[in-house]
Amino acid sequence: MSGRMTIVSVRPWQVAAAWFCLVLLLATCIPCRPAGAVQLGEARYRELKRVLVLHSFGREFRPWSEYARSIKAELERQSPWPLDVQEHTLLMARFNNPGPEAPFVEYLHSVYQGALPDIVVSIGAPAARFVQRYRQKLFPGTPMVLTVVEQRLVNRFELTDNDVVVAVRNDFMAAFENILQVMPDTKNVAVVIGASPLEKFWIDEVRRELKPLEGRLALTWYSDLSFEEILKRGATLPPHTALFWGLMSVDAAGIVHEGDFALRRLHAVANAPIFSYQEPFFGGNSVGGPMHSVAETSAKTVGAAIRILGGEKPAGIKYDPIGFAPPKYDWRELQRWGISESRLPPDSEILFREPPVWAQYRWQMLLIAAVILVQAALISGLLHERQRRRGAEVESRQRLAELAHVNRYSALGEMTTSIAHELNQPLGSILTNAETAELMLKGASPDLDEIRQILADIRRDDQRASEVIRRLRSILKKTPFEIANIELNDTVREAIGLVRAVAEGRRITLTYTPVLADLRVKGDPVQLQQVVLNLIINAMDAISDARKREVSVWTVRVGNEAEVNVVDTGPGMAASDLANVFDPFFTTKPQGMGMGLAIAKTIVEAHHGTISATNQPAGGARFTIRLPLLR
Ligand code: ADP
Repeated sequence: MSGRMTIVSVRPWQVAAAWFCLVLLLATCIPCRPAGAVQLGEARYRELKRVLVLHSFGREFRPWSEYARSIKAELERQSPWPLDVQEHTLLMARFNNPGPEAPFVEYLHSVYQGALPDIVVSIGAPAARFVQRYRQKLFPGTPMVLTVVEQRLVNRFELTDNDVVVAVRNDFMAAFENILQVMPDTKNVAVVIGASPLEKFWIDEVRRELKPLEGRLALTWYSDLSFEEILKRGATLPPHTALFWGLMSVDAAGIVHEGDFALRRLHAVANAPIFSYQEPFFGGNSVGGPMHSVAETSAKTVGAAIRILGGEKPAGIKYDPIGFAPPKYDWRELQRWGISESRLPPDSEILFREPPVWAQYRWQMLLIAAVILVQAALISGLLHERQRRRGAEVESRQRLAELAHVNRYSALGEMTTSIAHELNQPLGSILTNAETAELMLKGASPDLDEIRQILADIRRDDQRASEVIRRLRSILKKTPFEIANIELNDTVREAIGLVRAVAEGRRITLTYTPVLADLRVKGDPVQLQQVVLNLIINAMDAISDARKREVSVWTVRVGNEAEVNVVDTGPGMAASDLANVFDPFFTTKPQGMGMGLAIAKTIVEAHHGTISATNQPAGGARFTIRLPLLR
């Protein structure tokens, strides 16, 4: 068996073409990535600026934490480049006996080896010293901004052309003069400064700077005390003392005080105002005065950092140390300690001013004022109305009194004959008795006993006549409406006394039966007499043609009321007239005026009483007056 092998020969051009196709295929199969995006991302990466922020005590350690916060925020706001801000904190400074720095240096070295930051920003003096000391090992050639360093603590010997210093200047004299300015009576200042090496340095500085105040101001130092002890002392300070809050990083007991918790605790218990020259301690706890401004220091720091990151040489960026900003005060503290605003320096600013109550509750107060005004208007309107009503009442009573007076005249006019008769009787007796006595005296032996008897009769008759005149005068007296406490039985008796003679003249039996009890009421006796008089005269008029001629008057007590009844034996009233007898000008008499009962009703109602008219079942009319009894 024979087989033939076929050899396929491949030409070189065919191999080249295959490679070309493979490359083309691969090129088209790789996921698409826009060329522009790659370029942009790389450009952005090249632009990224790495910022190392080194804290002295801790990231939340006041006052530095507030500067760091402000610097970072401002840097991010101003930077045209993306930023990678890395923060580290130097813990050694917060211990009274700092430990070795070497491990921390090694740590930073391993982190930044081969990838140095674009700029180092140190916050506070300990951090500045650290970066200066380890510059060669950690960040050779990296520009540095040493900020928030008190000018006395700047290590000028180790400054290079690659450094910018943003120094601040603590002016303790200005801070203490501020205390004396706003509280001139201050005799003693308790100085709160901690016990760390840095704080001890400041104690010496404060002592040195305040030498000129010796004799004027006594200083008490709290650096050897635990913070708990400081709280105790701060709560029981003698008068004319102020507290000066310098720094409280670490107390004598070795306790570290971050943030402003310690200051807040002291503020809560202190019996004296607290002053501080650091803005981060202002706003709720300290009175204020000249202070370091966080904004000013951060603005300068960020300004320098941006210029350096933009390529400018640090050597060309120089700042003078920053002093205190114009004084600021907390209005709430001024109020609390009774510090007058007139004592503040002229360029000072007062913050946290609480708006006055009327501004806080403007709408509520306006509403209340409006309600009060409306209410006041209503009340005065009502008072005015009441006044007018009272006036009208007085006026109407006066008119009533006048009308009643006229009515009395007309009523008594009818009785003139009987009154004359009543007067004539005693006067006639007096005359007869006088003549008899005269005759007896002419005799030779006059009977003196008889004459004495005659004289007694004369006196009695004279008194009777006087009584008639007195009664007449009293009823005809023109008096205003006068309320008094009266006994109603007596008042009715007086009225009957006036008409008794009339009744006798008309041969009418007039009986009066008062209740055997006091009927004390409030009223005008003359007017009430007039009412009774009117009812009796009407009753006598009604029985003028009747066979049985009797008028009975009696009083009775009904519950809390006194009742006067006038009953006659006349024909009574027509059923249709019963409802009208009290109407003015209602009369059935040819000569009648029709005002008697209308006036009687008005008088009784003015006494808060009632008057009613009914017909008796056995015939005749019955008029009943009811008046409230006095309690
Ligand atoms: P005048 O006596 O001038 O008529 P009054 O107001 O005193 O006015 O009386 C009104 C009317 O009431 C009388 O005209 C009479 O018709 C009626 N009247 C009053 N008292 C009696 C009475 N005792 N009996 C019957 N009618 C009476």
